[in-house]
Amino acid sequence: MHDMYLFNTMGRSLQRFEPLHDHKVGFYGCGPTVYNFAHIGNLRTYIFEDILVRTLRRFGYDVTHVMNITDVGHLTGDDDTGEDKMVRSARERGSSVLEIAQFYTDAFFVDTQRLNINRPTIVCKATDHIQDMIDLIQRIEANGYTYFAGGNLYFDVSKFEHYGELAGLQLDQLKAGARIEIDPNKRNPFDFVLWFTKSKFENQALLWDSPWGRGYPGWHIECSAMSMKYLGEQFDIHAGGVDHIAVHHTNEIAQSEAATGHKWVNYWMHAEFLVLDKGKMSKSSGSFLTLQTLVDKGYDPLDYRYFCLGGHYRSQLSFSWEGLDQARAARLALVDRVVALKEAAGQPAHSLARPEQIGAAAKAYLQAFDDALSDDLAMPRALAQVWTMLKDTEIPPADALACILDMDRVLGLSLDAAEKREASVDAETVRWIEDMIRRRAAAKKARDYAAADAIRNELKAKGIQLEDRPDGTSWKLTN
Ligand code: AMP
Ligand code: ZN
Repeated sequence: MHDMYLFNTMGRSLQRFEPLHDHKVGFYGCGPTVYNFAHIGNLRTYIFEDILVRTLRRFGYDVTHVMNITDVGHLTGDDDTGEDKMVRSARERGSSVLEIAQFYTDAFFVDTQRLNINRPTIVCKATDHIQDMIDLIQRIEANGYTYFAGGNLYFDVSKFEHYGELAGLQLDQLKAGARIEIDPNKRNPFDFVLWFTKSKFENQALLWDSPWGRGYPGWHIECSAMSMKYLGEQFDIHAGGVDHIAVHHTNEIAQSEAATGHKWVNYWMHAEFLVLDKGKMSKSSGSFLTLQTLVDKGYDPLDYRYFCLGGHYRSQLSFSWEGLDQARAARLALVDRVVALKEAAGQPAHSLARPEQIGAAAKAYLQAFDDALSDDLAMPRALAQVWTMLKDTEIPPADALACILDMDRVLGLSLDAAEKREASVDAETVRWIEDMIRRRAAAKKARDYAAADAIRNELKAKGIQLEDRPDGTSWKLTN
């Protein structure tokens, strides 16, 4: 097993990874709230989790990956304000909550599959685990961490000594009012609801009987209940986006440890946000990009995966179309390189050397690639090793091919399926090229040769060669 260092949000430091049970790893990643499509920011977080799981498996760990599907209880405000996102979406779309949940759950897995994100070992729905949540809440209650007020059961954060440790919150300092409090039933602004019986909105579709009355669970309790059900009362890694640190994960820790009386999770990992024009991409604002938006614009989903690999998961990644274009060009260059290596190696991929049989020169790159991954998933550094290896003329093609395909077990770019690309363009591009040719002809006619040359050069940079003939200008692709 390869050593692995992970940045633990708990303690804010790089720590050597030591699983609880030998080579077995229990990993829980907070899944989507299925009231809408995932946006490409959400998908960045799931790509990060996929890289983590693939790396752990590569290094010899036996990973059980659990992901929840939130189909109840996630209010529009993470601090118990607003209304249930599922209920609102169902009302707005004139469907039932279950139809909405099924539709967006399916859409989510279509997206993740297109991004080569491996399906988690266990996918579990909140609505299938209400009894597990009730059981857990009863343990928290029996241990004296709850109070009932205004029809809801609350978690009393003042009873939990380590509250806020993950986020570095100082309860007494923050009490002064960092968060605007609108729930008068709470004794402390950081208290949160474990079970709602007083629905704040009419026609709440999803209700269950419970010891506290007919109602529905708070959002945080589902992750505690389902992770413990499938991974045990203590497990190795829990991950999500950075937005979950302050409220969701902080509350998950409080209620889990209040129930069991011991430590819950050893390593907390958080992916930074994908940002748009320096702003946050959010699902609830309604203005966000989906994977389908990129596909409709002619990108391959793997162009976006490659784009994400270009940034470290703990740094914000700024999305731009230029950046995505560069990722596409780099990914296609990689595909072309693999095709060329296949031809040069003259053998089918399945007969290639196994990693341990690869020659020393290529093996050194594999080692450097693994070292980068083991250093808190330093993917940009790992990617740099890919390219340096491919440019190293000392490496025999068969070795280079075996090496890149081995690296692709983590990159997940389907390089084993790489095929010679047909040089082709879609109808929209053809219209654009023809429009450019017309504009160039007009510029020439007006004797604006600089403008005409600029157009020729712009096309050339995109791999389009113009040829002037007596009967007009034709074009062809140069690659
Ligand atoms: P949600 O479906 O809203 O619960 O979010 C799903 C996952 O995406 C969570 O782990 C969030 O932390 C994460 N997330 C939300 N917005 C972004 C973003 N702009 N960039 C990266 N991850 C995000
Ligand atoms: Zn969660």
